[in-house]
Amino acid sequence: MKRAKKQIFHDYIAKHGLKSTRQRDIILDAFLSTDRHLSIEELYLKLRAKHPNIGYATVYRTLKLFAESGIAREMQFGDGQTRYEHVTEGEHHDHLVCTGCGAIIEFENEAIEKLQDDVAAAHDFVITTHKLELYGLCAACRK
Ligand SMILES: [Zn+2]
Ligand SMILES: [Zn+2]
Repeated sequence: MKRAKKQIFHDYIAKHGLKSTRQRDIILDAFLSTDRHLSIEELYLKLRAKHPNIGYATVYRTLKLFAESGIAREMQFGDGQTRYEHVTEGEHHDHLVCTGCGAIIEFENEAIEKLQDDVAAAHDFVITTHKLELYGLCAACRK
């Protein structure tokens, strides 16, 4: 899976006449080996300890490239931070977002997916994509 994503990214880089750089590869490795839903800041801080020569702007631009190449998706969860999550072909999930601690929980629910299709069909509408975000407090934050 990780290899496939690297391949997709390298193909994209080559196709667009960009050079593949060591810094981009380091950022790609770091991104692929983290949790999902990482902000630019979080990835930058994670890299900084080991790779102090990689600047924030480079991380920013590289994440944008990941999104353009299709291996990452930009998400906003209402806290003003752009987050990047891993994209896996054919996979879909929605999110529960804790407004207390910022935890992001992924879920898949077939009944909800089906209901969305029913709603669309009732309006003679074809859904091409959707995102569902439910905001609230996680168990730890309610204590
Ligand atoms: Zn919480
Ligand atoms: Zn997600």
